[in-house]
Amino acid sequence: MKTVSTLADLRAETQVLRQGGTIALVPTMGALHEGHLALVRAARAACDHVAVSIFVNPTQFGPNEDLERYPRQLAEDSAMLEAEGAALLWAPDLAEMYPPGFSAKVSVSGVSEDFCGASRPGHFDGVATVVLKLFNQVQPDMAFFGEKDFQQLAVIRTMARDLDLVRPHADAIIGVPIVREADGLALSSRNRYLSPAQREAAAVLPLAMQEAIARIEDGQNVTRTLAALEDEILGGGFDSIDYAELADACTLQRLDELGVAPARLLVAARIGGTRLIDNMAVVKG
Ligand code: AMP
Repeated sequence: MKTVSTLADLRAETQVLRQGGTIALVPTMGALHEGHLALVRAARAACDHVAVSIFVNPTQFGPNEDLERYPRQLAEDSAMLEAEGAALLWAPDLAEMYPPGFSAKVSVSGVSEDFCGASRPGHFDGVATVVLKLFNQVQPDMAFFGEKDFQQLAVIRTMARDLDLVRPHADAIIGVPIVREADGLALSSRNRYLSPAQREAAAVLPLAMQEAIARIEDGQNVTRTLAALEDEILGGGFDSIDYAELADACTLQRLDELGVAPARLLVAARIGGTRLIDNMAVVKG
């Protein structure tokens, strides 16, 4: 695996790879875990070469968020990617990504406005802008994102469709199912912020979500079920809830009843100083 940190080196390496076949891109912020590695494996299965980017993107963090303490472990991440058979690690520094005078911004309205967009103002502008840059830098045939960040995936697909992206095409943006711990908690780089007691309590989130989904799929009232879900999450040790909502899985419009279109239960909740998100499919029975 080659590691590059300048655009000039990236271009040289991707040119070589492209001559030998197709390229998949897996964008990450590092502190890699099995969830990220599932994306790398899916990418390897679909393309000849896998490029992984590691960049902790400051423009997607709010002023009071965890940018400074976000875990950084490039050597460890690099060893994990090497073992997974990635061909290229793209690890630009801040000045390479945002040189002096940088002033462009990509904003996707609609799908980015509710949920994490409402509780993290500006977050999805930062995500869309850096992902479009990564796409243009690497020019991958396909790109892989986790369903863990379900709204992010919808925002990026919308951006790719609306801006007629070619590399990758909107249809070549692939969502990979969430990888979970044995107790159901979704893997996240932020789980390492949790104390042992918080970590144990955090398992209430996926458990309570599964119970709520069973009730909704059974035809019970959505509003009352969501209220009970919030109570259960708070009763289980979380301190606050940013949102716990049922939404259309494509448009992310809120739903107060289950229709025929695929739906998703989306939750963001805080435990101590840590904000955790999760989501699960809801299917009409
Ligand atoms: P991050 O490094 O947190 O920005 O995540 C990079 C990519 O990995 C994103 O597409 C995430 O959705 C994905 N990802 C993170 N955690 C998981 C997980 N537990 N399962 C599947 N994908 C994940």
